[in-house]
Amino acid sequence: TTTVEPLTFEDRYGALPEALYARVAPTPVAQPRLIRLNRALATELGLDPDTLAAPAGVEILAGNHVPASANPLAMAYAGHQFGNWVPLLGDGRAVLLGDIADRRGHRRDIQLKGAGRTLFSRMGDGRAALGPVIREYVVSEGMAGLGIPTTRALAMVETGESVRRQRPEPGAVLTRVAASHVRVGTFQYCLGRGDHDSIRALADHVIAHHYPELKDAERPYLGLLEAVTHRTADLVAQWLLVGFIHGVMNTDNVSIAGETLDYGPCAFMDHYHPGTVFSSIDAQGRYAYDQQAHIGQWNLARLAECLLPLLGDDQEQAVADATEVLDGYVARFEAAHHDGLAAKIGLNERRDGDLDLANDLLRRMDDNDADFTLTFRRLADAVDGSGEAGVRALFRDPAAFDSWATQWRERLAADDLSDDTRRTAMRTVNPAYIPRNHRIQQVIDAAEAGDLQPLDELLTVVARPFEDHPELARYAAPPAPEEVVRRTFC
Ligand code: AMP
Ligand code: MG
Ligand code: MG
Repeated sequence: TTTVEPLTFEDRYGALPEALYARVAPTPVAQPRLIRLNRALATELGLDPDTLAAPAGVEILAGNHVPASANPLAMAYAGHQFGNWVPLLGDGRAVLLGDIADRRGHRRDIQLKGAGRTLFSRMGDGRAALGPVIREYVVSEGMAGLGIPTTRALAMVETGESVRRQRPEPGAVLTRVAASHVRVGTFQYCLGRGDHDSIRALADHVIAHHYPELKDAERPYLGLLEAVTHRTADLVAQWLLVGFIHGVMNTDNVSIAGETLDYGPCAFMDHYHPGTVFSSIDAQGRYAYDQQAHIGQWNLARLAECLLPLLGDDQEQAVADATEVLDGYVARFEAAHHDGLAAKIGLNERRDGDLDLANDLLRRMDDNDADFTLTFRRLADAVDGSGEAGVRALFRDPAAFDSWATQWRERLAADDLSDDTRRTAMRTVNPAYIPRNHRIQQVIDAAEAGDLQPLDELLTVVARPFEDHPELARYAAPPAPEEVVRRTFC
């Protein structure tokens, strides 16, 4: 035939042992309608946005047409869910079409989420509802706008079918793009089956495609543990610095490539309260904002258990080596987190006492219900002592800010930067816009009623969150009391 397919896939994951996946095609949907195509991402992937947005492209994004080059599959994985071992999870509603080379030559997985039932669906319908698909699209693109490693959203398509959740909801399919969909839970699946050959094959695959610099290392598997440890520590530090709460840090949602993966009941904080939990299913607060650093390390310990069989015949030594790597997580996380906090309060050089100064501000924010994002954003206006009104007004007792600001300004005087340079630097690390919960909810409500303009507006600001966007400034505001969303659902 002469059909020109807009996407040409390779099937690298399918070269792994068959136990690691199940071949399955997406289940076609009734009436696909493109809700949103991420044109900038399409271009980055070397794809033509117009071809993807045309009816034949939408058929692919809906799972109704599988390109000739694709050999789709659902990945098998296991995981600890809220600390409980589950030996078999897997892609219950996602189908991996394959991987493509982006414009820089990096391989990227293309997955359809909500594409129908698979071998791993258990009681689930294999489908996704429009609301959660919009949430994932907006939050993952917001994450990318903030410069934080994340899976991306290429498109969302309404299916024309309804899915049954608490109520009937419109169905949708999200096209997810990831460096890799391999999770800590993928390794755990192999370990749970006692299948050490598959652990090795998977580790070799991950090293070849995501950590090629380790290929010729003396101890590549220990190096892999260390590399994933560093990326995860850096990632969690970046989440904390923007007030992000993942919500379901189960080991099956921890990416081996260090990307933010699986946007379920996630949310950004408005008021700074370190114990904040949004997820309706996290009754114990296991994944609260201030638990995330520790949980990141716990999850990496589960990866270490999987890699132990590859770390040499002397297993006592292997445990010692892995433990040393895991211990390094704390220093790595703290360095990233503390440097980030110093930059958020405008410091150029690091001195003793800087962390105390930053923590003192956070404590006062907590006590005074100060908005996390706006406090840091407006702090830039206060560097020369003139523009303080905006930031101090965020504190229930503005005097709590004033007494901190006195110490802060003393410290700034000893930090060699001009006010202008410092202000600019602060505005490149402190965003004006985060995908706020109440806005996401409003965008979903409008989209379900057929109005996509709020979605477009929210995506405009979160894609460039460090710019001012005066005409859309309302998206920077915290919720009014009646708009507050306290619980998120997945
Ligand atoms: P998550 O909470 O998104 O990490 O998903 C946990 C597990 O449930 C994964 O194995 C998913 O594939 C599966 N799952 C979630 N929703 C559905 C659904 N509607 N149909 C089938 N499987 C699902
Ligand atoms: Mg998941
Ligand atoms: Mg999920």
